[in-house]
Amino acid sequence: MREWHTTTAPRMSASRPALDKSEAESFGLDNWRDLPRAQMPPWPDYSEVERVCAVLESVPSIVAPYEVDQLQQRLAQVCEGKAFLLQGGDCAETFDDNTETHLLANARTLLQMAVVLTYGASLPVVKVSRVAGQYTKPRSAALDALGLPAYRGDMINSLEPTAEARVADPQRMIRAYANAAAAMNMLRAYLGGGLGDLHAVHDWNRDFVRTSAFGERYEAIAREIDRALAFIKACGMTDEEALRTVTLYCSHEALALEYDRALTRVSDGRAYGLSGHFLWIGERTRELDGAHIDFISRIANPIGVKLGAGTTPAYVKQLCEMLNPGNVPGKLTLISRMGNQLVRDKLPALVEQVRDSGAKVVWQCDPMHGNTHESSNGYKTRHFDRIVDEVLGYFEVHKMAGTHPGGIHIELTGEDVTECLGGAQAIVDSDLPGRYETACDPRLNTQQSLELAFLVAEMLRG
Ligand code: PEP
Ligand code: MN
Repeated sequence: MREWHTTTAPRMSASRPALDKSEAESFGLDNWRDLPRAQMPPWPDYSEVERVCAVLESVPSIVAPYEVDQLQQRLAQVCEGKAFLLQGGDCAETFDDNTETHLLANARTLLQMAVVLTYGASLPVVKVSRVAGQYTKPRSAALDALGLPAYRGDMINSLEPTAEARVADPQRMIRAYANAAAAMNMLRAYLGGGLGDLHAVHDWNRDFVRTSAFGERYEAIAREIDRALAFIKACGMTDEEALRTVTLYCSHEALALEYDRALTRVSDGRAYGLSGHFLWIGERTRELDGAHIDFISRIANPIGVKLGAGTTPAYVKQLCEMLNPGNVPGKLTLISRMGNQLVRDKLPALVEQVRDSGAKVVWQCDPMHGNTHESSNGYKTRHFDRIVDEVLGYFEVHKMAGTHPGGIHIELTGEDVTECLGGAQAIVDSDLPGRYETACDPRLNTQQSLELAFLVAEMLRG
């Protein structure tokens, strides 16, 4: 991960490992332990959890404080309408799929989407991957369809459908850490070596336009990007560092608080959650007086909160006060996930409340989690048209409110899976068993992801 185009030299001071008790206390980093906690992993033996956390408290962190600060500055640009946020990746990462092939395919797809969106928005795109720590899942029910304890992500238990495999195992936090470290190491190396080269990424997009059934619709934008690149080349700017390198930040849901707390470090008088650059709280764990909101309120990172259709303006007001008391732009991202049928009804009141109160937030649309249904043949799926429609509704709401539709949050993979319906490939229920590989929620495949990017680029251009 090179390309730190800051005007000032980044602060490189190291974070110190293993916070002592009084230091942790002064930041309130352990206050969550006494609060009500939804989605508690069913750890059989908490002393084992403590032993594992003692190890994680002194390992090198996954990310560095100056990177976290830099992401915060870039999100401030999004907050002010001067940049767009693209976040995406697996619903649940797994240890088995933490391979070079999978990581590169996902990164490549995200970068391809980013090029199209950069052009569509005529704005820089901040790229954040759901990677290097997205190993825990909230569940609606404690038991799955087979009556086994639910799978809660590879950091907690195993997807394998046996009672033993589903027992929560604290040692999995160590494996999650090791896998996250390996993933970041590989991504940083490839991105530094030109994976994000603008010309190469655009060539991949041209291949997509050539092979997609709806390619014609997207050809105009692809051709305009061609011309823009030719212009840049004609100006002699081919060697620009900015064209060759890209920064990809990592993010995950802060759900297994033991893990994120153990990877918290102090640097320059601030506590950073260094398990990832950006951490968010999910729809099921966002109680204002609960453990998750308390923990996330204590760290210096940019943070997000998912907001379902039941969210009230009063809740959002309190949330902004609690999580961003200094009203710092880029600190807090509100991620609406209401479903295409409700976004136009429910989002306006929240956006207006935030706008009128003067609270500074980044708005982001997650068009995945409100649009899940069960297919006729029993697969958890989502239809591409509903995903597109939710993003469209989100743009309409922000246009009416005069606010910036800051970004999108997508579950995707760079592989040719068949998990979501529709798109130019016209995937139907009977296609789903072909390559249904997700460990949790259905993801857009490569083609569907790029199609979405082209459609959102059209929306951004109005
Ligand atoms: C997720 O992002 O995978 C997720 C579980 O989202 P939500 O909390 O919005 O349901
Ligand atoms: Mn999900």
